[in-house]
Amino acid sequence: MSFDSCEMALLLDEYVTGLGIDVLLYTMGTDPILEGDKLKGVFLRNKSGEQAVLADMVIDCTGDGDIAARAGAPFRIGRENDGVFQPMTMMFKIGGLRPDYERDDLRSWYDALIERMPEKEILAEIPYDNPALITLPRRGEALIQWTHVKRCLGTDAEQLTAATFEGRRQVRRALECFKLVRDKLGDVYLLDLPAVIGVRETRRITGEYIISEEDVKNGVRQPDAVCRVHFGVDIHEPEQTRQTCWKHPGFDIPLRSLIPLKVENLMTAGRCISGSFAAHAAYRVTGDCLRMGEAAGSAAVAAIRAGQSIRSYAARRL
Ligand SMILES: Cc1cc2nc3c(=O)[nH]c(=O)nc-3n(C[C@H](O)[C@H](O)[C@H](O)COP(=O)(O)OP(=O)(O)OC[C@H]3O[C@@H](n4cnc5c(N)ncnc54)[C@H](O)[C@@H]3O)c2cc1C
Repeated sequence: MSFDSCEMALLLDEYVTGLGIDVLLYTMGTDPILEGDKLKGVFLRNKSGEQAVLADMVIDCTGDGDIAARAGAPFRIGRENDGVFQPMTMMFKIGGLRPDYERDDLRSWYDALIERMPEKEILAEIPYDNPALITLPRRGEALIQWTHVKRCLGTDAEQLTAATFEGRRQVRRALECFKLVRDKLGDVYLLDLPAVIGVRETRRITGEYIISEEDVKNGVRQPDAVCRVHFGVDIHEPEQTRQTCWKHPGFDIPLRSLIPLKVENLMTAGRCISGSFAAHAAYRVTGDCLRMGEAAGSAAVAAIRAGQSIRSYAARRL
């Protein structure tokens, strides 16, 4: 199912402005403020310059675990055996799609394309063989998930920049390919590019509990569960052109996976929590990241009100 991203932005603005919370846009959290192993807040940087925000608890929802890593929390990146991680994707929006294009037809255009152009040649330019055309609520518009940028790390500024250029280069090639399947798609054109390239995987901050691949396969229940993951394991292969997907019975994310080792007054939520390569490939989806954020916020408030560290609060819940 797709949604209109412009409508979503307006809706979320209305939602956050009604909650009595302070929001800063155009702001990066740069460095942790530490006293020994205790996190006391975060330095921010924006158009106003540098500011220090003090806090009883910091919840790192940067996707990459920027603050947790800089505070000294341990982390892993990529597969356990070789550290290789999933590729990035520059999604893009097209307009001009045939009005009768079937909503559930993700890839028949690609099958038509490889009948008209050797797949080897296409893969040499865009190294991914399971693209998806996702129709959007506005007529004639769709999102394309096709580009794959491999071996660029989202926590390295130079690699992130290079990946963005490469992602956009692949978009250009994709648009040329679409001309070969005009009969299937219509006269499609580039309507929009995202402000940032989509990063699937960077740091997984090691916490009190690491969700293992076995936990995923066995559908493990946890006494301190904050959410149950149902989305299947979805690995965009780091070194091949394919995607590996497998189902599981559903597994729990424990609160302990949101509590990094070695640093106090710190939590994580989202794709940077503590789990294995395989577990991350399932819980990284938006719905689960949202639930983790909500759970982290609630647990932080409860621990602070009870005058406990988040670590002992979580241990008592066991
Ligand atoms: C190409 C692609 C397609 C996907 N498709 C789907 C899909 O169809 N359905 C689905 O459910 N999931 C999908 N996912 C997965 C999902 O979108 C992400 O895994 C999920 O959004 C991660 O959530 P998060 O909150 O951890 O991080 P993010 O959503 O990345 O949010 C992190 C936020 O923190 C900000 N930030 C980062 N660093 C700092 C800093 N130092 N200071 C301040 N702010 C910072 C970022 O700008 C960002 O706004 C897709 C991912 C990719 C890459």
